[in-house]
Amino acid sequence: MCSFPCGPKRHKKAEGERSGHIDTPCASVPVRRIRAKAPTRDTSRGNVVRVKAIRRLTVRPVLPDPLRPLSDLARNLRWSWHPETRDLFHSVDPECWTASGGDPVRLLGTVRPARLAELAEDRRFLRRLTAVADDLDHYMTGDRWYQAQSGRLPAAVAYFSPEFGITAALPQYSGGLGILAGDHLKAASDLGVPLVGVGLLYRHGYFRQSLSRDGWQQEHYPVLDPHELPLAPLKERDGTPAHVALALPGGRELRARVWLAQVGRVPLLLLDSDVEENDPGERGVTDRLYGGGSEHRLLQEMLLGIGGVRAVRTYCRLTGHPAPEVFHTNEGHAGFLGLERIAELCDAGSDFGSALEAVRAGTVFTTHTPVPAGIDRFDRELVARHFGPDAELPRIEVERVLRLGMETYPGGEPNLFNMAVMGLRLAQRANGVSVLHGGVSRGMFAGLWPGFDADEVPITSVTNGVHAPTWVAPEVFRLGARQIGVQRAEDALAVGGSDRWDSVADIPDRDIWELRRTLRAQLVEEVRERLRASWRQRGAGTAELGWIDDALDPDVLTIGFARRVPSYKRLTLMLRDRERLTELLLHPERPIQIVVAGKAHPADDGGKRLVQELVRFADDARVRHRIVFLPDYGMAMAQKLYPGCDIWLNNPLRPLEACGTSGMKAALNGCLNLSVLDGWWDEWYQPDFGWAIPTADGAGTDPDRRDAIEADALYDLLEQRITPRFYERGASGLPDRWLEMVRRTLSLLGPKVLAGRMVREYVERLYTPAAEAHRAMDPDSARGLAEWKARVRAAWSGVSVDHVETSAATASAELGTTLALRVRVKLGDLAPEDVEVQAVSGRVDSEDRITDAARTPLKPVGGPDLEGRWAYEGPLALDRTGPFGYTVRVLPAHRLLASGVETGLVAVPSGDLVEAAGLLMR
Ligand SMILES: *Cc1c(COP(=O)(O)O)cnc(C)c1O
Repeated sequence: MCSFPCGPKRHKKAEGERSGHIDTPCASVPVRRIRAKAPTRDTSRGNVVRVKAIRRLTVRPVLPDPLRPLSDLARNLRWSWHPETRDLFHSVDPECWTASGGDPVRLLGTVRPARLAELAEDRRFLRRLTAVADDLDHYMTGDRWYQAQSGRLPAAVAYFSPEFGITAALPQYSGGLGILAGDHLKAASDLGVPLVGVGLLYRHGYFRQSLSRDGWQQEHYPVLDPHELPLAPLKERDGTPAHVALALPGGRELRARVWLAQVGRVPLLLLDSDVEENDPGERGVTDRLYGGGSEHRLLQEMLLGIGGVRAVRTYCRLTGHPAPEVFHTNEGHAGFLGLERIAELCDAGSDFGSALEAVRAGTVFTTHTPVPAGIDRFDRELVARHFGPDAELPRIEVERVLRLGMETYPGGEPNLFNMAVMGLRLAQRANGVSVLHGGVSRGMFAGLWPGFDADEVPITSVTNGVHAPTWVAPEVFRLGARQIGVQRAEDALAVGGSDRWDSVADIPDRDIWELRRTLRAQLVEEVRERLRASWRQRGAGTAELGWIDDALDPDVLTIGFARRVPSYKRLTLMLRDRERLTELLLHPERPIQIVVAGKAHPADDGGKRLVQELVRFADDARVRHRIVFLPDYGMAMAQKLYPGCDIWLNNPLRPLEACGTSGMKAALNGCLNLSVLDGWWDEWYQPDFGWAIPTADGAGTDPDRRDAIEADALYDLLEQRITPRFYERGASGLPDRWLEMVRRTLSLLGPKVLAGRMVREYVERLYTPAAEAHRAMDPDSARGLAEWKARVRAAWSGVSVDHVETSAATASAELGTTLALRVRVKLGDLAPEDVEVQAVSGRVDSEDRITDAARTPLKPVGGPDLEGRWAYEGPLALDRTGPFGYTVRVLPAHRLLASGVETGLVAVPSGDLVEAAGLLMR
């Protein structure tokens, strides 16, 4: 049936070997491209002599006219979250579909012409094709959530990320950050948000993982050919490929072509430096994700940020797409996008200061890591070399570029250029990715806003979410759709809205339990297949593998643990007490089984040792039917794994997991979470949704002891709470209490963890305010703000709080009393409209620090007096009992600031004044 040349083995080409070209399917007359073949090793073996081609062509399949819509359906990645479209491709040729790994572009490149001719006559198939194509058309053009919003929404938003995980068929991600970016694009598409994604196209994608016989991680990097991927080249009007170029030191140039992936309604632009015009060094810039040394990384990030903005401009010019009013950088890697936009404005006549203000207003920066080692920092000299008159952005003084990334705060490293610091300085709005991580980030970057408490640092948080249509198993979706109808079920997943999720309450227990059993059984089958493949690859013969037929059991409580393997995620915490774990696995009545997966970074031998430890434990014949390690964790595996588990385990070192999203994907399929209270789980944990592993993160606990305490707690929970609840049966013969938790997880947690909810929050809380700020920042306003900031900074030493009095400054007072506060401040060369004078009040701790402070502006009532002091007044309500205190401060104020904290300037009463005025009361 299938004319696939070598089946799935194509994925396993050796490095350096070029794969065959199958262009994006197109109904037009086949276009032939002739390309000189890259020199390769002679791979012929034994007696087999292979004649080598001296030229190779890309031959595109020709679809018969009635099948033309298949080409559009394959080209738009919406198929990756639309089961009906996938079902249609499946029925084109089930065998080819499986061999293609579920990738429509590959499928169409390999189906026999005779089969296509048959389908072109098949009325039933054509009816389905028309229906699915109409559905896509409606999806692409109809009004969605965004179009129903009122208010001054951004005309477009550009979203930059170093990686995008959209589907296994476009392997351009390494882990959570990329998958999140993919989910962000898909949810934006579902909501109708006019987003443009920007990233790099890596020739090697991320590595594929396998195991050696003794469990050591092996990596290989399949070469990706863009012509075989669901991509189309962005073309100039004359049909030539669109390029962007960057100037490098020494007169060199870095050119990149722009590929376009269509993610539903959202275009994703991917820059690719592997073009013939580049020198070999520059060709390799986009060779692999996070590969190479510092200079390589810097070039990748310059291409992403600077080249990315140029690609967006080109795309808008060629397609008429509206120009983005907001630029969002997902982590600091794309931070140079701000510099390029400053340079654009400078070219149009702005000075640096006003251009900086204009760019900041329309920039959003999301930080993703509380681990300082996770932030890119470059040698100052390296950065200096790549900017300035002989390199990029010649209009901007190199010193100004460097100042943006310098760690000018206590503990900072003066010779390093920090991408996160630059990100924060170039963005007027910034956020972390869970409530807890927002707080951790405010502490981590507090040095950039000296004089302010960490809780005032202007970094908010938007908790991550996951794209439900991608991550909910079709079986789960079908059960929901049976309850409330397909349309409402689709809306529930895409947009959220808890009313749509309430109906989970009405699904009978028996149906939920049956669904769980089905999903678990499917996972067991999948695991056996993967295990067999892995063992063959590790060198085992068929005769050795009989045990795999009975590996895992579809009726045993199944625990999943899969993630990258940096040390803070503690892959091997479960092995801490091997005897106890073995008892849990082999318990005669209430056993557990565990599926583990995860890739260690190729350069991280420590991580590889952890993988090996786990693999060796799982290889033991005593337990190998109850615990397995599956190599090559990726999206395809993840989509099977989350739904099939009963418990999703996560045991990071709190608070190092910024958010974590795999547990959310599991929850959407009715899996319960068992996790340390970190990231999103810290925010949304309820006893109904799973279990919290207590953390021993108090100061001073040594790491080893901490592991021991937390591992013991994990075993206790499994033994005493979780397994009994899973195996106990109620009157109906079902595990009632377990099912109640599943039900509550789906109906109450489900609507929160959606990427649709996340993207709505970005639109409402960050994109729209940023677009408004951007519009307010016309050239005059931007210049005004820049000049004002410079003036305020210069004059700030003349600002002081001189006198504070209250109507009744006794040491005790009654709840409900309102005091009149009267203050005198000196403003030096500034005027009252340049500042805000605030009363800050609230509960005080034992060291008189005000906690959970209320900040109330005071009103100017007169001045200046003979000593040049201005009077301010306001009420101070004693609205809480217990130790209470207040103080007064002066901040710069301007209508174009996002917050009073933004400038980092503040004046507070001197220590003497605090004493004299009795500013603190008990
Ligand atoms: C969701 C996902 C991740 C991220 O999971 P975390 O919980 O954030 O570690 C990583 N890899 C894949 C394949 C995923 O689907």
